[in-house]
Amino acid sequence: MGKHLVLVGGGHAHMVTLANLDKFMEKGHNVTVIGPSIRHYYSGMGPGMFSRIYTPDDIRFATQRVVEKQGGSFILGKVTRIDPEEKMVYLDSGKTVSYDVLSFNAGSYVPQAAVTGEDKDIYAVKPIERLLEAQVRILELVSRNKISVGIIGGGASALEISGNLWRLCKDSGKNRPHIQVFAGKKFMSRYPEKVNKLARRSLTERGIKVIENHYVKEVETGQVTLESGQAYDVDFIFLALGVRPSPIFAASDLPTGPDGGLRVNQYLQSTGYPEIFGGGDCIYFEEKPLDKVGVYAVRENPVIYHNLMAALEETALQPFDPGGDYLLIFNLGDGTGILVKQRLIFRGRLAFKIKNYIDTKFMKKFQSIENSS
Ligand SMILES: Cc1cc2nc3c(=O)[nH]c(=O)nc-3n(C[C@H](O)[C@H](O)[C@H](O)COP(=O)(O)OP(=O)(O)OC[C@H]3O[C@@H](n4cnc5c(N)ncnc54)[C@H](O)[C@@H]3O)c2cc1C
Repeated sequence: MGKHLVLVGGGHAHMVTLANLDKFMEKGHNVTVIGPSIRHYYSGMGPGMFSRIYTPDDIRFATQRVVEKQGGSFILGKVTRIDPEEKMVYLDSGKTVSYDVLSFNAGSYVPQAAVTGEDKDIYAVKPIERLLEAQVRILELVSRNKISVGIIGGGASALEISGNLWRLCKDSGKNRPHIQVFAGKKFMSRYPEKVNKLARRSLTERGIKVIENHYVKEVETGQVTLESGQAYDVDFIFLALGVRPSPIFAASDLPTGPDGGLRVNQYLQSTGYPEIFGGGDCIYFEEKPLDKVGVYAVRENPVIYHNLMAALEETALQPFDPGGDYLLIFNLGDGTGILVKQRLIFRGRLAFKIKNYIDTKFMKKFQSIENSS
């Protein structure tokens, strides 16, 4: 008898599963996909969309259309928690959905604990679709005045957003904002020293200030306050702090890792409930904790697809091998990038060209599912 497969989130780790929904139907199963947006946005190209290097159409995937074309159901909504004993998913709308097999690809969020007061003109770098709202608002503000923008965070997304903000305003021909990056103890501290130097130089050459050796204590509309008590007046704030896995798991009494991510074994299967799987930023892979980068979500795809089918059909599961080191390229917004692959580190136009080639090729492959399915 057919079973019910429920997918929470249509992100990068569900790409192959979404492309093959018809295979589940052919075997008599039903599939429901739940997501807060009818489209999925690729965050690797998000900063480039913000600066208008890419259009929104270049970086989005029509999740709802792909699901419904293959005979699946799409529910627009946000999952808040599940009851793993009752096998029930709860949505923010109050709706509930029961499942036999469940898979999470619900991504991660930017913690907002530092925001203490009003939050007007404060934007997090995720969800990516909100960068479009931020873009419109910034252009409105710079068309009236010279403004000051504070970027809270000292990692890759702070680097990419500040560089691409510079580009957006430069290309608009309006007032250039004063941009300050509040980078905590050290800018790009997770990467080799050379990356820090190249990144800092790229920003300071363009008049972007990087403030290190100070943590931000509080953020509210118009103001950033450091732990030292020093306060900065700003007109617009981006929160680009390190991401955390979706809060669904802690709220559901599921086994989690230290970061709150769904704890999964080598089969990307919940260590507490064998009918639950997951991939991407929202999991804690207990064999080897993984960085929150799209590369792993993409590598997990075939295993998630195989194992969801295997769980429904009661056949053997496949283990996931995270593979070796990965390539990272940061989009600096000025037509250059910083490429990092083990000991090979350089900055230049070639680095951005490689990133652009890889990212647009990936999105074309992802978007081709829309037409082929
Ligand atoms: C600004 C920025 C730039 C980045 N650049 C790069 C890069 O260049 N290269 C790289 O490898 N990585 C990059 N990353 C990291 C990378 O984007 C993530 O690792 C990747 O997006 C993880 O994929 P995912 O599918 O797990 O999550 P996401 O891409 O976040 O997708 C999660 C999906 O789940 C949905 N969802 C969320 N909450 C719920 C809910 N409650 N219920 C149902 N559905 C839900 C969302 O709508 C979304 O469709 C970047 C991240 C940021 C923020």
